[in-house]
Amino acid sequence: MTPLEQLLIRQITAEGPISVASYMSACLLHPEHGYYTTRDPLGVAGDFITAPEISQMFGELIGLSLAQAWLDRGRPTPFALAELGPGRGTLMADVLRATAGVPGFHAAMQVHLVEASRPLRGEQARRLGDHAPAWHDAVTGLPDLPLFLVANEFFDALPVRQFLRDGDTWRERVVGVRDGALAFGLTAAVGAPDLTGRPDTVPDGGMVETCAPATALAQDIGQRIDRFGGVALIIDYGSDWSLGDTLQAVREHRQVGPLEAPGSCDLTAHVAFGPLARAAAPARAAAIVPQGTFLERLGIAQRAQSLAASAPDTIIAAHRRLTHPEEMGQLFKVLALFGSDGPAPPGTGP
Ligand code: SAH
Repeated sequence: MTPLEQLLIRQITAEGPISVASYMSACLLHPEHGYYTTRDPLGVAGDFITAPEISQMFGELIGLSLAQAWLDRGRPTPFALAELGPGRGTLMADVLRATAGVPGFHAAMQVHLVEASRPLRGEQARRLGDHAPAWHDAVTGLPDLPLFLVANEFFDALPVRQFLRDGDTWRERVVGVRDGALAFGLTAAVGAPDLTGRPDTVPDGGMVETCAPATALAQDIGQRIDRFGGVALIIDYGSDWSLGDTLQAVREHRQVGPLEAPGSCDLTAHVAFGPLARAAAPARAAAIVPQGTFLERLGIAQRAQSLAASAPDTIIAAHRRLTHPEEMGQLFKVLALFGSDGPAPPGTGP
């Protein structure tokens, strides 16, 4: 039993079941035993691998999209180049390398990183220290400047609540204790979850997930972009409206039960992009595009061809993994938020 499991069992036995969101928060960010608080989980030797860790092409193309969005807006100076949940700093390092040749971009930028994990902040300092980044605990710490922001596999880590339709009422899924072990349960009838902007298509017995922290964040980013200008690229797995139970736990590249070894597994849920796009108003939102389409539009095929001269097999495999519909190409989506100071960032939009 993990230390966090013991702690949760004691707490739930004393105080009663907790929401799936409280369980997720404890698993990921408990100050002593949280998954992200205690380790660097990324990479082949870790638990999961992300697009920037698969290939430098991912971050390079995102860098060029952000730089073009900056040029399209008349090169606002200074501006904040921000990332949410930068992991090992790989994506930002690739963005910075790819944009080094864009005249004026580096001179005008301030690098801002929103990161909760101490071990990962250390890794980011090692990779990005030359660019004097500023770290923040939350988006509210970002400066009042034009904002050029990227978030890859960040929103999926924000805690969701799960609601089950039971005839005319709703019940919330909770984590309780049964026979001395953590177990899922359901509350008695609760008020209807906030399904603003979603089609009400949840069938009897069906589940829906809500993520208030994600909509609050999209609202904050949207207001900043509306006031100061700029764009945001939000990349994650999900769809416009996710339906059903999408909570999943991963350890050492294998899927495990979400209640197994709390604090030692990555725990995520699919991102519902529709509510994010809506919450970001008055900033505009482009229709979500699959990651494969986004990267192809930005020229990943040409970039792969030029890199393939040195390591053809690795580059061909990475290109496929990032863009093929059976790999990350279709499941992962890109949501672009943008101000009226310019068009949608390249790769996104209609
Ligand atoms: N973007 C990186 C890492 C993805 S893992 C990549 O693509 O490789 C998720 C990242 O978000 C980690 O850096 C994690 O520490 C951070 N994170 C998760 N929840 C967070 C929160 N609530 N606030 C700030 N950072 C968080």
